Order: sequence, then structure tokens, then C-alpha cells
Amino acid sequence: MPLYACPRCHNIFPSPDKPSACPECSHKYPLVASDVEFNTFYTSKLTRLREGHAPAMTMDERNWTLILLFLNKPKMSFYTSHLLRNYVLEATPELCLDTYKGFRWEFTRRVKQDRIALQLEGYKESRLLMRREDGTPLVKGWDSYGPALRLLYSFEATDPHKAPNLGNINRIDLAQIAGAPTEAYRQFLSDWLEAVKDVPSPMGRILPEAKPLLKLMKSDDT
Ligand SMILES: [Zn+2]
Repeated sequence: MPLYACPRCHNIFPSPDKPSACPECSHKYPLVASDVEFNTFYTSKLTRLREGHAPAMTMDERNWTLILLFLNKPKMSFYTSHLLRNYVLEATPELCLDTYKGFRWEFTRRVKQDRIALQLEGYKESRLLMRREDGTPLVKGWDSYGPALRLLYSFEATDPHKAPNLGNINRIDLAQIAGAPTEAYRQFLSDWLEAVKDVPSPMGRILPEAKPLLKLMKSDDT
């Protein structure tokens, strides 16, 4: 369903046809939502869904779902739902694990990229970590930490004062999540699919070809 945004109260809402007024403030001229508004709307929706199921997930699953949400932007939902349905939810544990390894490979690549950028800015990560009361790391140059690196720093860990590293990604037991996930985890993925089922395919593209991506995943055996 198309999304609209109100220029007065910034409400973002779905509507099958062009709405005549904003349902919140009755402003007469809602506009078609921009890409940023589109992502904001779905990101908060999916974040709320995840938070609802997170307490009953394992710690690995909670961290892993953060990665999945990070890598699958709402605008690409058409592709994401294809992947989640056929290569995760309805796939054998082996195929599902391959899919997960591809996502892990990609997330690791982005973290490494962010680290290089951070070093070029002249900042160095420390091994020990102090955190503010809201959990934000108290580190020099936090504004220069890229999005993947920031996400890594938001991971749950057994010791919150040890700075996270690639081990926090590699130690996620993907075989366990692929083979014997909790009900809460599977339910989150189903709810995710349900939430984005109306997101249109970009440029009216037909079913995406997932095979090249899988080939890429297969070359990663870690
Ligand atoms: Zn409004």
C-alpha cells in the first residue's frame, strides 16, 4: 500500500488511494512519502515487532535479528521477503545456514569498512568500554563510528565493558539459529514478512534472481 506523509504534523500513513486529508491533523494536502519517510515508517514498525518477540529469543537470536534488520532496508522488502520465505523459513537448515553465512559475510565486510574509515579519521577503538546510562559507549570520536560499527557496539554481550570485535559476530551460533530457532524468532520473521507484504517491487522488477548471492555465500566457509 502506498505511503503518504503530512507536511504539517509529519504523520506517515498508508492509504490505498490518494488521501484527501491527514488522519491525524486533517491537513488537506498529504504528500507521497519520500524514501526517507518510507524507511522511517517501516524501520520503526519492524523495530517494534522485533522488540515484542525479543524477550523470548536467545541472546544470539537478538543480536542476529539486529543484523538482519540492518542489512535488509525496507525499500528492498520485495527482495527481502523472497529471501526470507524461500531461503530461510521454508528452506532446509543447510540452505538456511548458507543464507545466514552470506548475511554474516556482508555484515563483517561493512564493519571492517567502518573500522578503516574510523582509523582514517584518527580514532582508535579501545579494548575496554565505558558506557553512559542509556548504554551508549563512552568513546572518543563516537560520531565517526559508521552504522555497522555502531550496531556492533549495541550488541548484547556477557561482558558489556569489553569492546565488541569480530568475534562477537563469528560466535553467533548460526547453525543453531538455522536448525533449531526459538518459536519467538520464527514468529518475528513471519511477522516481518506479513508487515512488508504490500511493499511494492522497486521499478516493477520481477522476482529477483537469488542465485548469484548464494554463490557468493558458498565461497565463505567460516
Ligand atoms: Zn497531519
